[in-house]
Amino acid sequence: MENVVIAGSGPAGLTAAIYTARADMTPLVLEGPIPGGQLIVSNEVENYPGFTEPISGIELLEQFRKQAERFGSRFKSESVEKVKRRDDIFEVSTGSQTITTRSLIIATGAQARRLPIPTERKFYGKGVSGCATCDGAFFRDKEILVVGGGNTAMQDAVFLTRFASKVTIVHRRDYLRAAVIEIERAKKEPKIEWMIPRIVEEILGNDSVTGTILRNPQTNQEHRIQCDGIFVAIGHDPQTKIFNGLVKTDENGFIQVEAGSTRTSMPGVFACGDVRDLVYKQAVVAAGHGCMAAIDVKHYLERKG
Ligand SMILES: Cc1cc2nc3c(=O)[nH]c(=O)nc-3n(C[C@H](O)[C@H](O)[C@H](O)COP(=O)(O)OP(=O)(O)OC[C@H]3O[C@@H](n4cnc5c(N)ncnc54)[C@H](O)[C@@H]3O)c2cc1C
Repeated sequence: MENVVIAGSGPAGLTAAIYTARADMTPLVLEGPIPGGQLIVSNEVENYPGFTEPISGIELLEQFRKQAERFGSRFKSESVEKVKRRDDIFEVSTGSQTITTRSLIIATGAQARRLPIPTERKFYGKGVSGCATCDGAFFRDKEILVVGGGNTAMQDAVFLTRFASKVTIVHRRDYLRAAVIEIERAKKEPKIEWMIPRIVEEILGNDSVTGTILRNPQTNQEHRIQCDGIFVAIGHDPQTKIFNGLVKTDENGFIQVEAGSTRTSMPGVFACGDVRDLVYKQAVVAAGHGCMAAIDVKHYLERKG
């Protein structure tokens, strides 16, 4: 019987592991399909506190993991496939075994939605990004595209005008989903141009992005435009399908937690990191949530005796 199983090995899961291990709970971390989480694709992380020089995502998460191991965290390269509650105990099934645990921390993250074209994958991290807060500063005096028509796309576009010489908003429909106030803010910004309705057909470049081919879906006319970067802001998919029925989620699948805590609707199950974060989606925030989850688990297990 485990005290605590942690699903996910990104900044949230690994921080939860550090704290629960230091509190003598010997956590078991199920690493999932991406050991280290989504940050491992980033070559340069410049905003994680404590590192004066840029550090790669892989190196940063390796440090997290070593720290968690030092205090006795255990790791399995398996994914949670199903969770069943029996009285106060949870049965966590992976492909190969069923683990019983007194508590569960869900830290399975949220994946940024991607454009369905092969060149988007080729240039991801080489000019294509899913995170304006993380990568905006790398595009000083450059021309960039923001793809999307929701609030995040509008906010990202306005934010990116601090760095870029020109920001073009590209959206596949001729209307925007974003709130009127966000659209108005973007419309007032002189550096922002609009390409609506347009679909990104192809991303051009050799080692990095140099341009794109856009298609107007109403006329089918294609044209090339030059740009140095493309920010994809078409939403996130929280990795929570397997927890349906166990904990409450919002309409987009993000896990709902009690305000100011990591407690979910199911006693004994806690959620931390991007999987419950509608707003910030940053490694340092995910790590902070991981710490909170560990403390919440400690209190929960103490109350259970
Ligand atoms: C390209 C890019 C650059 C970024 N740059 C920065 C930056 O510079 N600074 C910054 O602060 N943030 C940055 N971010 C955001 C940051 O990566 C995330 O906010 C952070 O990783 C969220 O941490 P997390 O632990 O909640 O989730 P994730 O990092 O997404 O980790 C989720 C974990 O859950 C696991 N998992 C998934 N399904 C299962 C399952 N069924 N069972 C078990 N485990 C499972 C995965 O294997 C993974 O280990 C960037 C993101 C991207 C994509």
